Amino acid sequence: MEDKAIIEKIIRSSNASIEEIVQLLEGDEKLLFESADKLRSKYCGEEVHLRAIIEFSNHCRCDCQYCGLQRLNEKIKRYRMSPNEIVQNVKEAHDAGYKTVVLQSGEDSYYTREIISDIIRDIKKIGDIAITLSVGERDYEDYAQWKKDGADRFLLKHETADPNIYDMLHPHSSFERRLQCLRWLKELGYQTGSGFMIGLPGQSLETIAMDILLLSELDVEMAGIGPFIPHPDTGLNHENTGSSLLTLKAVAITRLMLKRPHLPTTTALEVSTGTNAFCAGANVIMRKVEPHRYRRLYEIYPKPEGSEKTILEERREVVDYIKSFGRVVSDSRGDAIEIKK
Ligand code: SAH
Repeated sequence: MEDKAIIEKIIRSSNASIEEIVQLLEGDEKLLFESADKLRSKYCGEEVHLRAIIEFSNHCRCDCQYCGLQRLNEKIKRYRMSPNEIVQNVKEAHDAGYKTVVLQSGEDSYYTREIISDIIRDIKKIGDIAITLSVGERDYEDYAQWKKDGADRFLLKHETADPNIYDMLHPHSSFERRLQCLRWLKELGYQTGSGFMIGLPGQSLETIAMDILLLSELDVEMAGIGPFIPHPDTGLNHENTGSSLLTLKAVAITRLMLKRPHLPTTTALEVSTGTNAFCAGANVIMRKVEPHRYRRLYEIYPKPEGSEKTILEERREVVDYIKSFGRVVSDSRGDAIEIKK
């Protein structure tokens, strides 16, 4: 089949074989991006959602082989924000206009179920602000309690759909456990986000096809797809950075297959090329809002140091950037999009 026929089939059926996806990943991107952009417009409109992300702790119990926060990295200076600092930070982001805050950290057991509960409840007192948690693998009871407290969404990327690669890169956990957590989150009614990296060692185009099919099977409301960027203080420091073109193609195919999910242009993608994923199906962008002295230390992968601007100044810059290619910034919370079947 020609690429065009495959694209039409995926749009029609929301399904594809591994071979068909691989063919699109290998093929020319022009029609693929145009088709994804049309579907993005149809299902998500012209609005881009801005999310504020607070990276509140870089302590981590995990050994993710690609990540600069891995437990055994002794070069990194570790920090934790206090619950009060986090809530104040959310207030600043809210004042600057953000309607969603993503609370992300390494897997840090300092933040017990109760501490996170208190943070969620205090944030809810600030106003109508959606809370996305991204704190890794926890017990079912933790996830259940936080949902009751008012957490709206959860991001937990599956990272790679190849169980062998997954288990090799995550000696502290397993692919099964990751999927279990994702299923719990869906079951508990979280707007759930998964996602994966492009360019992990051992990954093939077939793996990427499986990644996209897994997103479809999980029926995620959000999906973050970004290139792997080697960190100098990890065992993967000599590997290559993932291809940004391949990343954009994966974003576009995800839009064709799943239609409705919120798809961010990941920071890793912006960092590696400055590429604009908004023309390939993306409709979300995140901005760090924690104090600059912490941002420098949340180094999952190396990134250039920006100049120290205020949250409001940085938000204005993103707004101008989005307007510069004819899209509008949403003033809603940007909850999950439901498709009437
Ligand atoms: N502890 C949380 C948050 C992880 S950091 C959790 O486990 O979900 C957020 C994401 O950064 C990860 O899910 C991973 O996809 C990405 N990441 C980590 N190291 C990276 C690297 N070297 N290059 C690109 N992305 C990376």
